[in-house]
Amino acid sequence: MATIGFIGLGNMGGPMARNLVKAGHVLKVFDLSEKALATLVAAGATKAATASDAARDVEFVVTMLPAGEHVRSVYLGDGGLIAVAQKGTLFIDSSTIDVPSARDVIAAASAAGMGMIDAPVSGGVGGAEAGTLTFMVGGTDDAFAMAKPVLEQMGKNIFHAGGAGNGQVAKVCNNMILGISMIAVSEAFVLGEKLGLDAQTLFDISSTASGQCWSMTSYCPVPGPVATSPANRDYQPGFSAAMMLKDLRLAQDASKAARAPTPLGAQAAQLYALMEASGHDGLDFSGIIKMIKGEI
Ligand code: NAD
Repeated sequence: MATIGFIGLGNMGGPMARNLVKAGHVLKVFDLSEKALATLVAAGATKAATASDAARDVEFVVTMLPAGEHVRSVYLGDGGLIAVAQKGTLFIDSSTIDVPSARDVIAAASAAGMGMIDAPVSGGVGGAEAGTLTFMVGGTDDAFAMAKPVLEQMGKNIFHAGGAGNGQVAKVCNNMILGISMIAVSEAFVLGEKLGLDAQTLFDISSTASGQCWSMTSYCPVPGPVATSPANRDYQPGFSAAMMLKDLRLAQDASKAARAPTPLGAQAAQLYALMEASGHDGLDFSGIIKMIKGEI
């Protein structure tokens, strides 16, 4: 069993850290929120006084923070994780962040003789609780091999996407597909209904025809066809429109930097920005169908 520092115990990090405790690892945890910390201490983890304290004398450090600026500030500089951890510590950043920040922090870790991977996840809070997350990993073969047994305690599918930052690249590309496809499926259901086609009938046809996709068959934006989709609980998330917008903006930043045209990704970001502007970004991202219908 390993000694693991875990920093960022929010909606995702909290259940991920609990799964590591359950698997028998020794955890030193830190979060700015006392409440989040107390929950993990009750589950059997030891409280660290600061983020850096959580990284001292451990074999692995996992971070699950909101954005690139948080990751940079926790890892870099005097007193940052890279400066205080013992040689041989492996850093695993599972936050969803911009590709340049991921690559810069991994380069700084490598320059200090430390291993580090970017390992963003998909699967949401449900996947974090059930330990069934998908990890998309960027980093060296050695770092991936070292991290894999730890990631397997929190996830079901662990993919090595290539070198540093490639986990973040895979994540933004995947979520850009998801954002665009959810809008396409929503537009089709609204159009079908206006033309007199019953939603269940459209689902039955499209889910076995060429319009089939995850947004249709696993997360259908109309109530009824897929019992587990947020449409059946008034679009309570799930995965909020705010989180989708964050990922679509990261995809747009990446597409500008790479000079890769992503016109539909840009449109999707703008549509989710409208949901944010109207104050409805706390709904699940499939709630965009309400905006397309003119209900919000
Ligand atoms: P969250 O806001 O619930 O949790 C973030 C935690 O980080 C908070 O508890 C906060 O107090 C803590 N934190 C912030 N700065 C800190 C610091 N300097 N030191 C210590 N703790 C600090 O967010 P979340 O939903 O858990 O998401 C975390 C990451 O996972 C994000 O990058 C998000 O994009 C990504 N993600 C979220 C989901 C989801 O469904 N929620 C799904 C996939 C990926």
